[in-house]
Amino acid sequence: MAKQQLISLESDPRILAAAERLSMTRREFLQFCAALATTLGLPQGADAAVAEAVATKQRPSVIWLHFQECTGCTESMLRAEHPTLEKLILDVISLDYHETLFAAAGHQVEAARKSAMEQHKGKYILVVEGAIPTRDGGIYCKIGGKTAIELLKECAADAAAVIAIGSCASWGGMPSTDPNPTGASSVGQVLGKPVVTIPGCPPNPYNFLSTVVHFLTFGALPAVDHLGRPKFAYSRLIHENCERRAHFDAGRFAMEFGDEGHRKGHCLYKLGCKGPETYANCSVIMFGDAGAGTWPVACGHPCIGCTEQGIGFAKPIHALSKMKNIEPSAFLPRIVEEKGIGASLGAAAVLAAVAGAAAGAGVMVTKNLGLSHQAEELEKAKKDGSKASESTEV
Ligand code: SF4
Repeated sequence: MAKQQLISLESDPRILAAAERLSMTRREFLQFCAALATTLGLPQGADAAVAEAVATKQRPSVIWLHFQECTGCTESMLRAEHPTLEKLILDVISLDYHETLFAAAGHQVEAARKSAMEQHKGKYILVVEGAIPTRDGGIYCKIGGKTAIELLKECAADAAAVIAIGSCASWGGMPSTDPNPTGASSVGQVLGKPVVTIPGCPPNPYNFLSTVVHFLTFGALPAVDHLGRPKFAYSRLIHENCERRAHFDAGRFAMEFGDEGHRKGHCLYKLGCKGPETYANCSVIMFGDAGAGTWPVACGHPCIGCTEQGIGFAKPIHALSKMKNIEPSAFLPRIVEEKGIGASLGAAAVLAAVAGAAAGAGVMVTKNLGLSHQAEELEKAKKDGSKASESTEV
């Protein structure tokens, strides 16, 4: 069924037009959409819906605000090592207001923001980068004569969805570290309601793109956890999918930077790696663009827990991580295979790897997606209780 849908989409002129816009072949475009669907943990067949949405739906207007931050989130989005990603982000959204990217300045830019807000009232997506200073009436960050608090509330009032991008907007990040002289707060705290958060310093552009594509395809944001983080990206610990995990399990650790264990690629836990207490998919899609399909932990730098409030920028880099759970690594073969819970591990992994390679993202984007999602599906099935009875010992 899904295959038939993809084949008919291949001959759809709108798909060809979208692929040309992105300097891809039709096949590469469809494969990339399939990878996005896999990243989002969508069921089989959803790749066609994603492709159709990206190719044909009206791009949602995006108002992007900047407050207390370093602009690293924007840098990460637009200077992704893979040009396809940057192109796709700018292709699936209509970026109608972005202070640091606009060539214009002053009243012209403020007029552009107001006009976009009026034109797309109730339909635009508000993306907020940076924390909001709340001390002394919020005077520590003013844009166009308004405090960040005023601007945020004004723009959020008529937004269809609010996304806090990066750790600063998600939970205060670096500006909120002790003693927090400006009273830096998160978007959710200032608005007094939960928002979707995509923490990370910087955040992973692929997670932002997937969130927006979900909105584009289904008219709703993806399911989130209690901190507003999309579950497809933040439901597993980095430690669960880390390539050094076998060394952790075997008790082989680097004890000092540059020692024999470090050079041999042993586990970085004793150098302060925060992977065991940090929820993010960096180890799944190898985020960090450290080059040659690798990521910072693979290069020998311990995870600093930048996605987690109370860990990133709060816990000393050398301090030992708390073990949040002691489940076996997702890399280990399962003793009990469970049936009837959607796409198989092999199918998901192969699809993801092919699509990632086609789009230039290669192994970095998708190497372990199948493992990660299947583990989640198994947990879901166990909770339901219904499908668990279909288990078969092998
Ligand atoms: S402690 Fe860090 S380096 Fe070691 S396996 Fe866990 S995430 Fe990987």
